Amino acid sequence: MSGVVLVGAGHAGVEAAAALRAGGYPGPVTVVGAEGRTPYERPPLSKEMLDDGADPAAFSLRPEAFFDDRRISLIAGPAVAVDRARRVVELAGGRCVGYDHLVLATGATPRRLDLPGVALHGVAELRTLDDALALRSSLAGAKRLVVLGGGFIGMEIASAARKRGVDVSVLEVNDRVLSRVVTPPVSDAVAAHHRAEGVRLCLGERAARVVGRDGRATGVMTDRGTLLPADLVVLGVGATAEDGLAAAAGLATDNGVLVDPWLTTSDPRISAIGDCAVVRDPATGTARRLESIQNATDQGRYVASRILGETRRYHAVPWFWSNQGSLKLQLVDVAGEHDRRVVSGGAARFSVLCFRNGLLTAVESVNDPGTHLAARRLLDRMTPTESELLDVDYNLRALARRVIAGESAVA
Ligand SMILES: Cc1cc2nc3c(=O)[nH]c(=O)nc-3n(C[C@H](O)[C@H](O)[C@H](O)COP(=O)(O)OP(=O)(O)OC[C@H]3O[C@@H](n4cnc5c(N)ncnc54)[C@H](O)[C@@H]3O)c2cc1C
Repeated sequence: MSGVVLVGAGHAGVEAAAALRAGGYPGPVTVVGAEGRTPYERPPLSKEMLDDGADPAAFSLRPEAFFDDRRISLIAGPAVAVDRARRVVELAGGRCVGYDHLVLATGATPRRLDLPGVALHGVAELRTLDDALALRSSLAGAKRLVVLGGGFIGMEIASAARKRGVDVSVLEVNDRVLSRVVTPPVSDAVAAHHRAEGVRLCLGERAARVVGRDGRATGVMTDRGTLLPADLVVLGVGATAEDGLAAAAGLATDNGVLVDPWLTTSDPRISAIGDCAVVRDPATGTARRLESIQNATDQGRYVASRILGETRRYHAVPWFWSNQGSLKLQLVDVAGEHDRRVVSGGAARFSVLCFRNGLLTAVESVNDPGTHLAARRLLDRMTPTESELLDVDYNLRALARRVIAGESAVA
């Protein structure tokens, strides 16, 4: 028995390995890593890890003994090829590992900008612990930071840098921050929070080039001809799925490894999970790739249960969080297309309820964790109509209490 091989020792791969053992999988479980480190949590990299003195050991995904105790072999990669005919993963250095089932959990890599000057010293990106440690030490000596991209990671880095007293500008090509993932009321609240913290937001403006002297970045020139001086520039312009290994092995890919609703690739012996996977549902024609801890861990657990015999398709309500200084942002699903939204709460703490065809489809919460939790509980069980919510004055917590009390009464 060759067992299960998981390529990628991140959130998805490690969760799947742990769930295989928790579910009683008897065969070998092997996780192939590429970073040469004990697997660690990624979210703190743009938050706590940028503070002086934060200890990387505090953010290990599991203690080292966890892997030994559960007979999970962690081996150093990277995996460089998959021979599907022989059912073997080839590692750098020539070693081969056989599999009965292979799970690709290779994550994503930061999107690179094709911009003059982007290779200068002082231009950084953030995906790995090594990136975070390097960024932290650069921030310690930096006076002026320009962040390219007003997405989650860019805004989190902006907060961490302001906390250190660094002058921060964020350059965002769209006319609002987080425009790809949240509705305008939430973008406005996030922008107001950062402006109050002293962050300069340059919205609707594009970087034309990174300027420098003696090989080091000294600023960013925008397409409007404004020069933003900087001794540190961080790229926060999104990530692309790490699907090269899958594509080279002849698996179907399209901006990620294509999987069906059971998370199986075009080869039934190979699954893909987490940031690298695009779930395509032939029944609805939808294709979705998510980048979040919930998605990585839920898909990790699901794939383990499927290998152990589960036959139902994968289903989970997606949720996400971002901490930007004192601002706590939490999303249940992504608003995407909606035809109506209702804002419930005040300026400092509120939630945006998004509806499509009279049904609640997404909830965005700013400093409103109670509503976020209620939304997750509700959407896990049902899709509330707007009239059900109108009945409780759009109070999701009240509706969740009512629904859960109804369930207990039935039980
Ligand atoms: C700075 C930062 C902050 C974030 N903050 C949040 C947050 O607050 N909330 C949230 O929900 N999400 C957050 N995310 C997103 C979240 O971390 C990802 O969605 C999650 O890590 C995805 O897990 P994964 O296992 O799919 O990929 P990863 O965690 O990226 O793990 C993939 C691993 O596979 C390895 N790998 C790739 N190719 C190979 C190969 N050929 N051989 C062997 N190994 C390979 C990679 O080196 C990597 O270690 C953040 C991401 C970043 C970068």
